[in-house]
Amino acid sequence: VNYTGKPDISREKSAELYDKSKGYFPGGVNSPVRAFKSVHGTPLFIQKGDGCFVWDADGNKFIDFCASWGPLILGHNHAGVREKVVEVMQNGMSFGAPTALENQLAELILKNNKYIQKLRFTSSGTEAVMSAIRLARGYTKRDKIIKFEGCYHGHSDSLLVKAGSGLVTFGETSSAGIPKAFADETIVVPLNSDEAVKAAFEQFSDQIAAVIIEPVPANNGLLLQTKEFLEFLRAICTKNNTLLIFDEVISGFRVGFEGAAGFYQIKPDIITYGKIIGGGLPVGMYGSSVEIMEMISPDGPVYQAGTLSGNPVAMAAGIAQLTELSKSSFYKDLNNKAQEFTESIQRFATARNYKFKIFSIASIFWFAFTDQEAISSADQIESSSMEKFKVFHRELLNRGVYLGPSGYEVGFVSSAHSKIELEKAKRAIFESLDFVF
Ligand code: PLP
Repeated sequence: VNYTGKPDISREKSAELYDKSKGYFPGGVNSPVRAFKSVHGTPLFIQKGDGCFVWDADGNKFIDFCASWGPLILGHNHAGVREKVVEVMQNGMSFGAPTALENQLAELILKNNKYIQKLRFTSSGTEAVMSAIRLARGYTKRDKIIKFEGCYHGHSDSLLVKAGSGLVTFGETSSAGIPKAFADETIVVPLNSDEAVKAAFEQFSDQIAAVIIEPVPANNGLLLQTKEFLEFLRAICTKNNTLLIFDEVISGFRVGFEGAAGFYQIKPDIITYGKIIGGGLPVGMYGSSVEIMEMISPDGPVYQAGTLSGNPVAMAAGIAQLTELSKSSFYKDLNNKAQEFTESIQRFATARNYKFKIFSIASIFWFAFTDQEAISSADQIESSSMEKFKVFHRELLNRGVYLGPSGYEVGFVSSAHSKIELEKAKRAIFESLDFVF
């Protein structure tokens, strides 16, 4: 009633679709955060995307920084990706048998990555990480894993303990339905704490199969870790014959072609990728050394499979996308553009003394309503920050900028964001910040 910001965009058609979808799906959606529960208004139903833009069912046009939660590093509906997918689809969509396309995508990944030697494709990040954990347990013949509070690794049972993403958005960090016996095998420690990791190793010394971390934690805000902490994890894992798993479902091919492993120059034992390697289609993968990957069925005793794993359509999208990313100045250009964008937003907020930080790495950023210089663990996030985000999100939508509908989610700059559009987005961000404060 007291709203004095920009007039709200029309959400009439989205509201009609939402009324229907609520009859079909829990919360009206097929993945929880999409329900707009922690931001203002009806979820927007998206009709189309092109370049850096999306349009909703009411015809509202937005500059998009959600990018389907990260995979669309070339923007929406990239011509090269689309054409390759259409070309491959002329010959059928799934065979449940090997195709040359799997080799091509694997070659693109392995040829440019010194951290893994063999890989297996899955159809989602969740499957990739779940399989990586099983592999670590099979290889080490141990059961326990260490994960970090706020890191999200998909929705498999043993990883939904103190996780980020939708769980933190809705105020619960663990899921119902996880047998206690499973949760007991997951030791959860705070990020950025050598002491907590050391204590866990002291308590469970030779029982820990793996330490899993998002090396760029991006599901509970952007909780950047120091290189020293990641190096410490590498060392303590080596010392205890525990495998170090980097879950790079977001950071892989995002912070650089070799992901966070390359960015920090740290070699994990297993890496998981997802999202980006499918160019917007459902894909994931896990990879490791020849020796460790030999544990996987049919060579070894660790079973893992998938009807649609390595399906030709997703492989085609991945091949087209990674071919673009492997071009020499791709990351330099993208990261420079993103840096200019985030720095000028920070300059604006600092000049006005707003309690606001934009944390960023490469082309990932997070808007945090805080005056802390750094936030590196989940408990440092102030809950008042989410109330401010809610207002900010509404103002941005009303000014034609689309962010993921949760203050815990990060944003992504893509190569499709032109300087002109980034300038427009900045103006919307400045006005929205003025409104919030
Ligand atoms: N791991 C990380 C780091 C993620 O960010 C996600 C999803 O956002 C997953 C795993 C799960 O991937 P998916 O949603 O494809 O199952």
